[in-house]
Amino acid sequence: MKLHILGCYAATPRTFTNPTAQVLEIKNHLFLIDCGEGTQVQLRKHKIKFSRIQHIFISHLHGDHFFGLPGLISTFRLLGRKTDLHIYGPKGIKEAVTLLLKLGDSWTNYLLIFHELTSKESDLVFEDEKVTVNTIPLDHRVYTNGFLFREKPAERKLNIEEVKKHQIDTCYYQNIKSGKDIVLDTGVIVPNHKLTLDPPRPKSYAFCSDTAYKPSIVPQINEVDVLYHESTFLESEQLMAPKTKHATAKEAANIAKAANVGLLILGHYSTRYASIELFKEEAMEVFERVELADDGKSFDFS
Ligand SMILES: [Zn+2]
Repeated sequence: MKLHILGCYAATPRTFTNPTAQVLEIKNHLFLIDCGEGTQVQLRKHKIKFSRIQHIFISHLHGDHFFGLPGLISTFRLLGRKTDLHIYGPKGIKEAVTLLLKLGDSWTNYLLIFHELTSKESDLVFEDEKVTVNTIPLDHRVYTNGFLFREKPAERKLNIEEVKKHQIDTCYYQNIKSGKDIVLDTGVIVPNHKLTLDPPRPKSYAFCSDTAYKPSIVPQINEVDVLYHESTFLESEQLMAPKTKHATAKEAANIAKAANVGLLILGHYSTRYASIELFKEEAMEVFERVELADDGKSFDFS
């Protein structure tokens, strides 16, 4: 699992900072999460093969989280994309995007499939044989969801040495990987745990932006490997956080601590601050395992 931060600053794009967008690489998927203005430029700059993106998850319809989407959709058309593109986001996203396509008479030659979200409860929005994605309902000025990405447990790994020692035919390998014992021609049963090794532990990633401090999300994100939580403000502006329905670095750390996550990544910094180091300092007063997101930064969790 890898995470590429394309943009992680609040509000307006600036010379050296970009609004929210990130790419999660998980089990052969490239999931784009939020698509602020300039996302396609950032994808090119950081050499991410964006033709491989088939699923885009949009948290909410504030401009700094989705104004890059119509441009990206248009570029895909110009590049001759043929594969379907799935977009998950709040109700209204289909209307917003299709209005622009209609006015410009520039319909895509690939299938655009919208999955509009309205529920205030967590929904399973994507599932295949290796990954699930659930919404995490958040508390912001407009309807907003975070997203929880979970790998499914993988099959057990063959212990090739043991399998060969017992001269087991390859046609039984799939049965062994799915957990079955093997009966040899001699009638001896070889238990599965002798023929296999534990698969890697499934990983999980929770994206939570934008939101006011919302402790009720803790049970859903309990013990995730990585939590990205917005931290728009420092303690000096803590009174602004509830008014604007954003969180402080310390509040993000409180959530991380209560959920006992493996790592907290902070982002969505207000552009009023000259340096982002203080965000880490304030969060670490509450929770130790903190990293700062920054534009162009990648995290490898494999
Ligand atoms: Zn917002």
